Amino acid sequence: MKAVVIGAGMGGLSAGIALRRAGLEVEVYEQVVENRPVGAAISVWSNGVKCLNHLGLGHRVAELGGQMDHMAYRDGFTGEDMCRFSLAPVTEQTGQRPYPVARAELQAMLMEELGAEHLRMGRRMVGIDDDGLRVTATFEDGSTATGDLLVGADGARSRTREYVLGRPVERRYAGYVNFNGLVEVDEAVGPPDQWTTYVGDGKRVSVMPVAGGRFYFFFDVPLPAGLPYERSRAREVLSEHFAGWAPPVHRLIRALDPQRTNRVEIHDLDPLPTWTRGRVALLGDAGHSTTPDIGQGGCSAMEDAVVLAMALQTNTISVEDSLRRYQERRAGRAGELVLRARRRSDVTHAVDPDVTAAWYDELRREDGSNVIRGIVANIVGNPLG
Ligand code: FAD
Repeated sequence: MKAVVIGAGMGGLSAGIALRRAGLEVEVYEQVVENRPVGAAISVWSNGVKCLNHLGLGHRVAELGGQMDHMAYRDGFTGEDMCRFSLAPVTEQTGQRPYPVARAELQAMLMEELGAEHLRMGRRMVGIDDDGLRVTATFEDGSTATGDLLVGADGARSRTREYVLGRPVERRYAGYVNFNGLVEVDEAVGPPDQWTTYVGDGKRVSVMPVAGGRFYFFFDVPLPAGLPYERSRAREVLSEHFAGWAPPVHRLIRALDPQRTNRVEIHDLDPLPTWTRGRVALLGDAGHSTTPDIGQGGCSAMEDAVVLAMALQTNTISVEDSLRRYQERRAGRAGELVLRARRRSDVTHAVDPDVTAAWYDELRREDGSNVIRGIVANIVGNPLG
């Protein structure tokens, strides 16, 4: 059986690896010539790490992962701890340590594991034709690829999704902009083994350790969509948004490299009940684009990859039937995580300032148990237990 996978993000590459391990012939087609992930790093929570373990990549992700032993919230203006606690219960309750990982390194690991011979770069899919026996993707350059199934892992603006649903769907702007990048660890900003988040006025500033003595940083700022922005002015722009914030926040702004700081307007999609049409299935952000507020979008994409491969391996009626079973196992859980992330996003970013103020009060009384419960709730229910 042959699978044509569209998109070589973390979803498409994980799917390629999982399907190859299940014995399928796999070709992954990617529109860009060189893969440059939009974000600097990603928290791979325990469910995502379990998927990588399942794909034989456990020891490699552990090498790339930062040692995130503690978590703390700080008052953005005073810099004082609101709460600080160990993340060990997440590992104990889920059976796996989470790892924050630099995206380019995760991407390189997945590409290497898939194998260059299964990857075709610079091929933009523009059409799909399913004749009931085989499915053919057509690319912008006029070339085609035919397989027994097509996996649309073509991201949040998925063309495959339009084919599956028979109509385009609008993404929803979540109301805030995320700036992210990598800097050297600086203990004046946060301890090197801690995920430290400064909050205030519906904004947040976070640093998370990744391997190699680096922090993944991000700044969230509630803003209208579509504002003009010049990358070279990242420091000035952030200094204005965080005027009056504690000295560590300004130290972080001075340390960042503007040219390597990404700016992303955050969107999501209402959960979709339909992920498949005939021999075509959606995977990753194509099926469930989410705000990053619980760090589960990429983890969900890896869960999709694992379940898709299992569905094709364990069901024998037809490809269409296996894809429907994949959808049945995945759409509910992935959609629930999208809605959880949306609720968290609204609280964090002061959609209702009173609710956000109440959350800040809770954080001052937090001993870690509520936050841990929330993180673990996102992880349990994953397909690998
Ligand atoms: P993508 O990574 O978008 O890959 C899709 C690929 O398809 C792209 O390479 C694209 O070029 C290609 N493509 C698109 N159209 C075509 C076409 N027509 N033909 C050929 N190729 C095509 N998730 C987590 O789990 N933890 C986190 O901490 C986390 N943090 C995040 C922080 C931010 C700021 C953002 C924006 C997201 C975050 N996410 C996180 C979510 C995560 O990044 C996504 O869920 C994940 O990247 C989705 O992977 P994907 O492969 O489905 O899509």
